[in-house]
Amino acid sequence: MTRIAVLGSTNMDLVAYTARAPGLGETVTGREFRTVPGGKGANQAVAAARAGGEVAMIGAVGDDPYGAQLRDGLEHAGVDTDLLHTAEGPSGTAHIVVDDTGANAIVVVPGANGLVTALGPGEIAAIASAELLLMQLELPLSAVVEGARAARSQGVRTILTPSPVQPLPEELLDHIDLLVPNEHEAAELSGQAEPHAAAQILLRQVPEVIITLGAKGSLYAARGGEPVLFAAPEVSAVDTTGAGDTFVGALAVALGEGRPVAKALAFASSAAALCVQKPGASTSMPYRSEIEADAV
Ligand code: ADP
Repeated sequence: MTRIAVLGSTNMDLVAYTARAPGLGETVTGREFRTVPGGKGANQAVAAARAGGEVAMIGAVGDDPYGAQLRDGLEHAGVDTDLLHTAEGPSGTAHIVVDDTGANAIVVVPGANGLVTALGPGEIAAIASAELLLMQLELPLSAVVEGARAARSQGVRTILTPSPVQPLPEELLDHIDLLVPNEHEAAELSGQAEPHAAAQILLRQVPEVIITLGAKGSLYAARGGEPVLFAAPEVSAVDTTGAGDTFVGALAVALGEGRPVAKALAFASSAAALCVQKPGASTSMPYRSEIEADAV
């Protein structure tokens, strides 16, 4: 089994469904409310565990009821939570309003995630014993940089999802093997809207890039090689939330198993296509058997 460490966020998503989102100072009556375990780190951890990885989650939840629910959800998915600390105070929350057109407005309050500013010896050891380290940008940058540096110094492959997108310091990029932005993040980071052009710019900073392109698939580019566009399976999407995290989690498992890039991308694309056919994020992530039945 591929050993994967995920250094990232755990949030409870608090989702209100309403015909129309309120403006500032306005109150509207919503239709439905759901709490959904989320956070990009936790979502990638669940995706990787379901895809067949042995996954350890590094981060923090709060000492509130959400914290216990978030931990339970990860454990239920088979994720090792020994290094998911319980911090004093609230868990991370995402306050989401979804209107009838499917458009959303989100306020993320980092809560316990914001307290993960540095790593201890246990976290460093877990990273060193993994084959891959997955990171996103929902934890303080200081911890992400420390994790990436620790991984690299031990020969652990590092994969970064640059979300929420922000300028990336060299001290982080210097320790990243593979950058996986979506189309918007790639454009923002490179200043180039066209994915091939964006990839060429990003390759100046990291050796490998995969730009995910939604229903159009993904673009793989490595230094010194021709970029390759991989089509996504044609499916009818009902909810694309979590597609990117499913893609990265499954990709990490396949790469860790030593599959060549084309096969790893086929595995990741099948996993993400299965995810978009069901509502929800972590709840719609497929299991390995489903992905393998699909990725022929
Ligand atoms: P994010 O969720 O981070 O915005 P994307 O929207 O680019 O990322 O989706 C990530 C991956 O999920 C894509 O590269 C693709 O493989 C898959 N995917 C997303 N939307 C669809 C879709 N409508 N049909 C098939 N696959 C999809």
